[in-house]
Amino acid sequence: MTAPPAGSEDFYCAEALTGRTPVVKIRETVEVLAFRHTRPSFETHIVVIPKRHIPSFLDLSIRPAELLALLDVVREVAAQVVSETGACRIQTNLGRYQDTQHLHWHVFSGDRVS
Ligand SMILES: [Zn+2]
Repeated sequence: MTAPPAGSEDFYCAEALTGRTPVVKIRETVEVLAFRHTRPSFETHIVVIPKRHIPSFLDLSIRPAELLALLDVVREVAAQVVSETGACRIQTNLGRYQDTQHLHWHVFSGDRVS
């Protein structure tokens, strides 16, 4: 795991990946972690992150194999959500829409809860 830039707010490196904030894991591989959002916006809301610090989907340091490994988990989790709820959205945010500067995908379904 590569440390984030000093002084940045990064819940994933600082809390989720260290275990400081416990998360409910959905899937885990050597490179990727999927877990239930700790402050969900939807009835079903899962976050998928690379364990290595990658600032965003636009960051060019991500290796093709790393990207595929990440998207494989996004697909597996999305397939599970579709089978459980009948529908799913997947989303990654960029620029001022991205609150946490660590690449993450939202996999979500159902009504808004917050
Ligand atoms: Zn990070």
